[in-house]
Amino acid sequence: MSDPIRPRVRYAPSPTGFPHVGNIHTALFNWLFARHTGGRFILRIEDTDQDRIVEGSLAAIYESLRWLGLEWDEGPEVGGPFGPYFQSERLPIYRSYADQLVASGHAYRCFCSQERLAELRAAQEARKEPPRYDRFCRNLSPAERERRLQAGEPYVIRLAVPETGETSFDDLFRGTITFQNALIDDQVLIKSDGWPTYHLANVVDDHLMEITHVLRGDEWISSTPKHVLLYRFLGWDAPLFGHFPILLTMSRAKLSKRRGAPDILELRAKGYLPEAVVNFLALLGWAPEDKTEVLSCAELIHQFTLERVGATPAIYNPEKLDWMNGYYIRQLAPEDLARRLVPFYQDAGLIPRDSVPPEMLALIGRLVPLIQERIKTLVDAPALTDFFFRDDLVYDPAQLMPKGWTREQTLDALRQARDCLARFAAPPERFQAESLDEALRQLADTLQVKTGQLFGALRVAVTGRTIAPPLFQTMAVLGPTRTLARVDRAINLLASGTPAVR
Ligand code: GLU
Repeated sequence: MSDPIRPRVRYAPSPTGFPHVGNIHTALFNWLFARHTGGRFILRIEDTDQDRIVEGSLAAIYESLRWLGLEWDEGPEVGGPFGPYFQSERLPIYRSYADQLVASGHAYRCFCSQERLAELRAAQEARKEPPRYDRFCRNLSPAERERRLQAGEPYVIRLAVPETGETSFDDLFRGTITFQNALIDDQVLIKSDGWPTYHLANVVDDHLMEITHVLRGDEWISSTPKHVLLYRFLGWDAPLFGHFPILLTMSRAKLSKRRGAPDILELRAKGYLPEAVVNFLALLGWAPEDKTEVLSCAELIHQFTLERVGATPAIYNPEKLDWMNGYYIRQLAPEDLARRLVPFYQDAGLIPRDSVPPEMLALIGRLVPLIQERIKTLVDAPALTDFFFRDDLVYDPAQLMPKGWTREQTLDALRQARDCLARFAAPPERFQAESLDEALRQLADTLQVKTGQLFGALRVAVTGRTIAPPLFQTMAVLGPTRTLARVDRAINLLASGTPAVR
């Protein structure tokens, strides 16, 4: 990069909820930019709105970033020269800058009561005007102001936005954006309890932490003129600003938690791979020059530039994420996939949580080739293969009977299939998918039935379901003893005819 200064960028979440794909999209783009340019990626926790803090969300922020590999260079738990990185630990700093703004006349104390502000808002609403402070306290006489201060009346500190003129900034992705000052509210900077609002704390920290590029979601655009004014009033150079394209749902509504934007940790629990999620999110509002869709993290870092970030809305398509996840699953080394599947089998209650017996790990390893091409997410695996881990298969015996077959016909076919399978039972190495396949095709021929019908009956007998991984490979993994026991059980179930069987 020709820029002599290494970029310093930040992800500045508020711990007011669990991070969803939209939040982490912002984090990812900042991280990619820092990694591409050799800059620094800073995590700062904006916890000034103490009432809105959601328990567990801070841990979820760390966990989400770490799961995706978005390690931060400075911030909580790792430290750094510009700490503390929690805004709640920096209150005196904000206060001193607010006092400075008051002293220079760029901010003022406002003593208006909640009742007065509520009345004002109601009147503005009735007139269909946007809610805005009417600057009553901005025009108090110095004597009156002093009197109320001495009387100990509670107050907030507000930004004294110029009444005329415009405030603009050059957005990195959208060009110049201009706001009429007359339409900007006199933003509260310090609340009556002494805590700063987002606007003041954000600007002060971005300055003190030497942030070079403020890259954030488009919902902050309307805040930026207030920030630009604050930089000016404090006598600081503003960083560069870039607001990422809005993320939309498939039906073109703004993507939000309420409209189905999943939490990152929910994606993990559903069995998405971090590398697929990173790749998918990177393509929301950014594309490499050659429009390739599948890019490893290293390739993303190599190719990511702000010049290629668009301004047009990006559509969050969950089907594309599924496709991409399936793709990444197919690319994994089988041993790697087996390792990643273990917690999903544990969550499904199919293997123990602690000290998984080696034969169970070996079983997962052996069934991976049966499912690797078929699953889109890791949770699909236990759902598709639970019958390997339990012998108490529950199914309606009627399902054993192929369409148009009688019970006797099915019983006869299953018995002959059983004999046929038994011929390969010893030694167990003979119980191979190809041999079983060939032998049972011959049997279907002899019986003059369709292979699909015979195999369908066997599939239910062996797996308890009508849709399952390839039948003969499944039998081979189960081994002769368990396979034959299951066919025997099916025969008994059908022969006893207890449940309603056609
Ligand atoms: N705390 C804000 C948030 O929760 C940060 C916005 C910004 O990046 O300036 O997203």
